[in-house]
Amino acid sequence: MAKPTFTTPDIDSFCLVDQLGLTITGQRLEEHRAVLECRVREDDPWCRHCGAEGVSIGTVVRQLAHVPLGWRPTTLVVRVRRYRCADCARVWRQDTSCTAAPRAKLSRHAVLWALKSLVIDRMSVTRIAAGLGAAWHTVNDAVLTAGTKLLINDPARFDGVRVLGVDEHCWRHTGRGSHFVTVIIDLTPVRNGTGPARLLDMVGLLKVRLTVGLMPPGRRHPCERSRIRPESAYPASAVGGGDDRSLRSSE
Ligand SMILES: [Zn+2]
Repeated sequence: MAKPTFTTPDIDSFCLVDQLGLTITGQRLEEHRAVLECRVREDDPWCRHCGAEGVSIGTVVRQLAHVPLGWRPTTLVVRVRRYRCADCARVWRQDTSCTAAPRAKLSRHAVLWALKSLVIDRMSVTRIAAGLGAAWHTVNDAVLTAGTKLLINDPARFDGVRVLGVDEHCWRHTGRGSHFVTVIIDLTPVRNGTGPARLLDMVGLLKVRLTVGLMPPGRRHPCERSRIRPESAYPASAVGGGDDRSLRSSE
């Protein structure tokens, strides 16, 4: 950065809320949390039914966990304006679809932060939930939904896979007895000597399927609720590449 270029300080862009269609109108900073009061940038006064202009009838508050700023869980208190159509009397609210998913409790940036923290930074769901100031199930559900959409459904996910390992594995960490699941493993890096095996999928455990599938061998599982240990999630025969049940996919 020999010749840095500066722009005018802008709290909206610094806090990433401009990309969510919001502008910050107030802040409350406490020792263990920050609250940002926001409004929706775009007015939304036109009736979606008849097209007539609506009349503002006040606001409602929507609270969203946001990306932690300044080492504190950060909450967005979004005041969303309500309108009533003068012609057909219908009532609606400003569109906040780019701020968060419908009925979501996390902003879209918070969801991406949670997903990145779990997949790349190997943080546990418990730790991510603490960072966001949100409930464990809220974060877990949001990560599973976003991960399925952005990662699992990625058509390029299986690119480069040439050698598959398939094995039955006894799951002993559910708290409700043992269950057998089928694990599907990418053995291509082992065969090529370029790295460890990669777990692609497990059939039989839907809730943990995403987080397990994203974990490399030798790492602690991020989903503390499932209590999965790497040595149990990755059968030695499969990781070693010598399993006679390994399948070579068609070239
Ligand atoms: Zn109308």
